[in-house]
Amino acid sequence: MNHPFRRDGRARTARVGLFQRTRDTPMTKRSFTIVGGGQSGLQLGCGLLDAGHDVRIVQNRTAEEIHGGRVLSSQCMFGEALVNEAAVGLDFWTDTCPTVDSINFCVPAPDGAGKAIDWNGKLDRPARSVDQRVKIPAWMAEFERRGGRLDIAEAGIPDLEAYARDSDLVIVAAGKGDIARLFPRDAGKSPFDRPQRALALTYVTGMTPRPEHSAVCFNLIPGVGEYFVFPALTTSGPCEIMVFEGLPGGPMDCWRDVRSPAEHLATSKRILETFLPWEAERCRAIELTDDNGILAGAFAPTVREPVGRLPSGAVVLGLADAVCLNDPITGQGSNNASKAAKIYLDAILAHGDRPFDAAFMQATFDAYWAYAQFVVGWTNALLQPPPPHVLRIMGSAQAHPALARRIANGFDEPRDLFPWFAVPEEADRYLGQLAA
Ligand SMILES: Cc1cc2nc3c(=O)[nH]c(=O)nc-3n(C[C@H](O)[C@H](O)[C@H](O)COP(=O)(O)OP(=O)(O)OC[C@H]3O[C@@H](n4cnc5c(N)ncnc54)[C@H](O)[C@@H]3O)c2cc1C
Repeated sequence: MNHPFRRDGRARTARVGLFQRTRDTPMTKRSFTIVGGGQSGLQLGCGLLDAGHDVRIVQNRTAEEIHGGRVLSSQCMFGEALVNEAAVGLDFWTDTCPTVDSINFCVPAPDGAGKAIDWNGKLDRPARSVDQRVKIPAWMAEFERRGGRLDIAEAGIPDLEAYARDSDLVIVAAGKGDIARLFPRDAGKSPFDRPQRALALTYVTGMTPRPEHSAVCFNLIPGVGEYFVFPALTTSGPCEIMVFEGLPGGPMDCWRDVRSPAEHLATSKRILETFLPWEAERCRAIELTDDNGILAGAFAPTVREPVGRLPSGAVVLGLADAVCLNDPITGQGSNNASKAAKIYLDAILAHGDRPFDAAFMQATFDAYWAYAQFVVGWTNALLQPPPPHVLRIMGSAQAHPALARRIANGFDEPRDLFPWFAVPEEADRYLGQLAA
């Protein structure tokens, strides 16, 4: 393989703690191409630049197109994911983005009058959601400011072949982009072959704040779907993001015939008035943040094999959603992307000047999967009707603030939900301990 950009150099001081190098540590300067400049691609790219490497990011939309376009996500990020962003100096909105301080879980009573379950668990560290229309353009500018090369282009397979010839490592971080199909679907890790929820986002201003402190207000409507809402920062300032997760074919799977932003807002309000009167009450005066503050769609959660083989035989490595795509029901995608980018950065820096072959790629993904398997298991479990032990857990949290707090902080560290959230006997043992 050619390495036209490769030259020996000395690292600048890297911000990444574990692999912090000093100016005196010799290292081989290596070249990376990342396809996709989203949450994971830009975070990894900036980390690699800080460690003294050459990085090119290929991104199919300009900063202006992203900033002026449709919302992409609800992107609520919890403590550890935010720490990873800060570790590479990308925490630009800590002072301006409203905090999300807790998780509030509600289930409406079967007769529609009031709530059957209602508890609040405080987060140990606040979460934040910065509209990706704000974040990604700012990170693209920062990546270039640090010396990265940003190419605006839609990368296809022939482009990947060219990148593989002139880079030490090609990483595909293209999210839900079609190019991810290069990575074979891993049927053993992907229990669903079709979307499990009809998704919609509505970005609004004018919502009555929750009393006491802010929350992801998570409402589970049995047989209908889920609705959650939380404060965020958008292009015009603070807002609230409403997220609808409708069971396919149910009354919340209702976005196909919506023709305009005004109809989208009206549909959002109608759902709340029908199923969640306490949430509707907060929404008497809401307005869309902007005509692009809406989204509707659906996708199948899919895990893919991490090594993509090009027609020439060259290999490329998949990162984040491109190879591990989850339903947003647990709000983990951006968190996963941040954690995957950190694990990949650490693995790359630890690899020194050895070749980035298929074995390296598989081992790097496996290190991520050691974490992500819990997120995928938890997320896919929540897409199914809750088994009796999960109902017992979610109901018991009302009487046990420690349990409520533990579930809430599971959004930051989902591994802590295991095994007791997954195994009925473990759930009963834990609930027994709490009761005692
Ligand atoms: C409705 C909804 C709600 C969500 N809510 C949350 C939440 O609350 N919390 C959370 O953590 N996550 C949430 N997510 C998920 C989160 O937004 C994603 O998981 C995260 O952005 C994935 O990061 P990524 O780097 O893998 O991909 P992305 O951030 O999607 O970046 C991929 C980039 O690659 C570009 N691209 C694609 N194809 C190509 C190509 N061929 N060539 C060049 N560029 C290309 C794309 O334009 C994009 O800029 C939500 C997602 C949805 C759909």
